[in-house]
Amino acid sequence: MALIAHRQARERSTYHGRVTEPRKRVLLAKPRGYCAGVDRAVQTVEEALKLYGAPVYVRKQIVHNKHVVSTLEARGAIFVEENYEVPEGSTVVFSAHGVAPEVHDQARERNLKAIDATCPLVTKVHHEAKRFAAEDYDILLIGHEGHEEVVGTAGEAPAHIQLVDGPDDVDKLVIRDPNKVVWLSQTTLSVDETMETVARLKTRLPLLQSPPSDDICYATSNRQHVIKEIAPDCDVVIVVGSTNSSNSVRLVEVALGAGARAGHLVDFASEIQDEWLEGATTVGVSSGASVPEELVMEVLAHLGSRGFGEVTEYTTAEERLTFSLPQELRRDMKAAAAAAAAAAAATAG
Ligand code: SF4
Repeated sequence: MALIAHRQARERSTYHGRVTEPRKRVLLAKPRGYCAGVDRAVQTVEEALKLYGAPVYVRKQIVHNKHVVSTLEARGAIFVEENYEVPEGSTVVFSAHGVAPEVHDQARERNLKAIDATCPLVTKVHHEAKRFAAEDYDILLIGHEGHEEVVGTAGEAPAHIQLVDGPDDVDKLVIRDPNKVVWLSQTTLSVDETMETVARLKTRLPLLQSPPSDDICYATSNRQHVIKEIAPDCDVVIVVGSTNSSNSVRLVEVALGAGARAGHLVDFASEIQDEWLEGATTVGVSSGASVPEELVMEVLAHLGSRGFGEVTEYTTAEERLTFSLPQELRRDMKAAAAAAAAAAAATAG
């Protein structure tokens, strides 16, 4: 009763002779945006441009984000689909999503200087695939058909890997020995959907083995976890990310599955439509693992201009992981620094 009285008193105190607007707010998810693998891949291209000069060729989008790609293009990166588009003897960077061994072979044949920016957490899945293939396992790779990461991982052991793109694929699998089967996965899937597929696999293959450690990476799981927490309170969730970014697309799906009334994926703040915000009081905001923070800040400014100026950051994890740059690049950076120091010493002498 005391609480009701208090509420009534508070409601009364906010009445100023007109009906007050409901409070509009933004719930900002954290962690969001750049992960360690994306940060490393983007820095790799930036450092390669500084060290070798433009142009530096990049096979596929270095990360799946329009803004990142166009910014690097403006600095002298040239994005290609395949190695044969790179002039012989040039420098080529392989993207964060990883490549099949044949892509390294092609680079050697064309005498390319290859710098591999594959995320170390994708490389981990490649190592698992090679190890289980060497032990003659059937490997069930859960992932999206045609995604670059899946193509790269499957290329490590094509004779042993079958793709499972959702529960409906389970019945099509051809298994040689049900005692020697393991599942692995793409790093950027929905955690819940993947576990549904695994449950279906296990009904058919009770002795199915799991990956030695989680293949869905920390960044994907953390971003999904926080969006799940805020989604039930949100009228609309806006995820900043590109349509070809698997983890960004999954964030919208996870938000809707967790109770957000609506969800939208945008590359830029200018894509937000005013009708999405009509009648909304709480807007959730997050961003995929390949999205620079400046794009999120632009979304917040846009929402602020529509009355959503109150922003509360909701944090479920702190991320401190970083990866060092690819070894081949670090070696060249060190050699260039030593040469510059020697030249400076010679000039001084
Ligand atoms: S999303 Fe995960 S696997 Fe992909 S680059 Fe980022 S850390 Fe690596």
